[in-house]
Amino acid sequence: MHSAPFEVRTEHVVCPMCALDRPAPYRARMYRIGETRFDLVRCPCGFVYVDPRPDGPTLGKMYDDADYYTDGYNLGVETENYFERRDELLVHYDGVVAELERTICKPGDLLELGSAGGFFLEAARRRGWRVKGIEISPPAVEYSRREMKLDIHSGDLFEAPFAPRSFDLVVADNVLEHTTNPQKVLEKLRSLLKPGGRVLVIVPSYVNSPFFRLILFLQRVVPRRFLGEQLVKILKLDPDADPKGGGYPYHILEFDRATLTALVKRAGFEVERVEGSVPLPAEVFKAKRTTPRVLVLRAIFRTLDFGMRVGVLPGARLTLVARA
Ligand SMILES: [Zn+2]
Repeated sequence: MHSAPFEVRTEHVVCPMCALDRPAPYRARMYRIGETRFDLVRCPCGFVYVDPRPDGPTLGKMYDDADYYTDGYNLGVETENYFERRDELLVHYDGVVAELERTICKPGDLLELGSAGGFFLEAARRRGWRVKGIEISPPAVEYSRREMKLDIHSGDLFEAPFAPRSFDLVVADNVLEHTTNPQKVLEKLRSLLKPGGRVLVIVPSYVNSPFFRLILFLQRVVPRRFLGEQLVKILKLDPDADPKGGGYPYHILEFDRATLTALVKRAGFEVERVEGSVPLPAEVFKAKRTTPRVLVLRAIFRTLDFGMRVGVLPGARLTLVARA
């Protein structure tokens, strides 16, 4: 067994969606820090969450780990170091921001909660947005300040020095599932938006989904070598396959379309749209050799993504836009 790289303390929590305290087992021993295991539980309301979960200081230490951006950040969807993907990500986010300008609003004041290395903000700035970020991971704050001279608040949203009603758009991309009180986070973001400003929320929705339960079933009949170690890691089929980063309980909450929509409404927003999609794993989609396995997996992921975007399948990733 691997010993923990820091002291691990846990706390019991009630359902973060409805405050009931009647957790039923959902997936035991899903995550680990060293020898401490973490279970996913399911509330009678349907919400899936980690309980007991790492306490506040333990969560802080997880994100202070310099390996977060190599091992833990994207949970294996990408195979390269996040920071080394700078050029690729700046191009990617230029396209994302262009799409936001077409569908949400023209360049204005933009805040990103969880700005990571700052590539999204830098891409937006180059297109004429005035940008600010908040980031809890010290190595990422340091990188985005040093490399791109971005204005990033290091630490907690609730201590950030931003004036109320000062942003046109707030983006929280893969952040809410990491937070201990997502409703308070959303209420705070709403207070930072100008009247009529928008929030863009992106969350994964996989572990709590029928896909995950189906894959758990299928892995009994599909040879593990067909999936390969990388996919086993991405699909979260075996915490022991990945003793470090991806095994950490980074995601302590698991949203679906209904719970995410309800939460955003409860925080005072008017939800405008929610779209599903699936992240496309680099190991499959950037593969240089197109073996039959790669072609089959590409077809499966493309089909799933199409079904999620048109709404006949629940999304493995949800993108929500709401108005303050
Ligand atoms: Zn509940």
